[in-house]
Amino acid sequence: MIHFVGAGPGAPDLITVRGARLLAATDVVIYAGSLVNPALLASCAPHCEVHDSAGMTLEETIAVMRAADAAGKDCVRLHTGDPALYGAIAEQMMELDRLEIAYEVVPGVSSLFGATAALGCELTRPGVSQSLIVTRAEGRTPVPERERLSLLAAHGCTMALFLSAGLLEQAQEELLLGGYPAETPAAIVYRATWPDEAVFRCTVGTLARCAEEHAVTRTALVVVGEVLSGQGDRSRLYDPGFAHGYRHAEGSAEQ
Ligand code: SAH
Repeated sequence: MIHFVGAGPGAPDLITVRGARLLAATDVVIYAGSLVNPALLASCAPHCEVHDSAGMTLEETIAVMRAADAAGKDCVRLHTGDPALYGAIAEQMMELDRLEIAYEVVPGVSSLFGATAALGCELTRPGVSQSLIVTRAEGRTPVPERERLSLLAAHGCTMALFLSAGLLEQAQEELLLGGYPAETPAAIVYRATWPDEAVFRCTVGTLARCAEEHAVTRTALVVVGEVLSGQGDRSRLYDPGFAHGYRHAEGSAEQ
C-alpha cells in the first residue's frame, strides 16, 4: 500500500497523528527533500529505506513504489503541506491506477494555514470577504488564461499565492490591474512554522518591493486582502441575537 501523506508546513509536530503513525511504521519513505522537514524522518524505523524525491523523476519515484509493493512493503510518499495543493500527486495516482497498486491519501496542514496562523487572521471575515482564491503566479508551469491573476483579482476577495515569491513584480501588476486598490493589505510569510519563519506585511502596491527588500525569493506564501486589516463585522454565529440548531437566541422562546 502506498500512503500519500501531508507532512505539514514545516514544524515536525504539525503532521497529523495518522501521518506520524504511518511514518513510524513504514518500510519505505519517499520525501520531498526541497520542502519537507527532514526532522520528521527521525521517527522512521531503523530498517526504513529513505529516498529524497528532489533529485528523482516521476518514473524513478514510481519504480521505488512498485518495488515496495512487489515486496509486500508499505511506502509513505511524504509531501509538504497538504498533498492536494501543488503536490503533483495526480500523475503519481494515475500511474498507480495503471499498475493496479493500491494507495490512499492522508491530508496535511497546508502551508497556507501555517502562514495564516502566523498572521493571526481569519481568511473569511464577515462583512469583508467570504471567499478565498488559492492560486499562483505563472512561472514555468502555465496557468490557464481564464485564471489570469488580473481576472481573479476582479473578485476583490482574500487571495493566497503559492509558488510566487520570485514572481511578484508581474503578480503585483496583475493584482492592481484586476482592481485591488494599491493600499489593500498584503503579507509575505516566509518559511511558516519553521524556526526562521518571518512575516513581512505590506500592501498590494508594495508587494514586489517588500519581497526584494527582504530578499524573499522562495518558500513563501503571499496573502492579499482586506481581511488582513483586522476590520470587519462580528459573526452571526456567535451573536446573542442569532439562533441556530445548537443555541436559542436571547429573548426568543424558539425551540
Ligand atoms: N502542498 C504544499 C504546497 C507545495 S508547493 C502545501 O499545501 O503547503 C510549494 C509552495 O508552497 C512554495 O513555493 C510556497 O509558496 C509554499 N510553501 C511551502 N512551505 C511553506 C512554508 N513553510 N511557508 C510558506 N510557504 C510555504
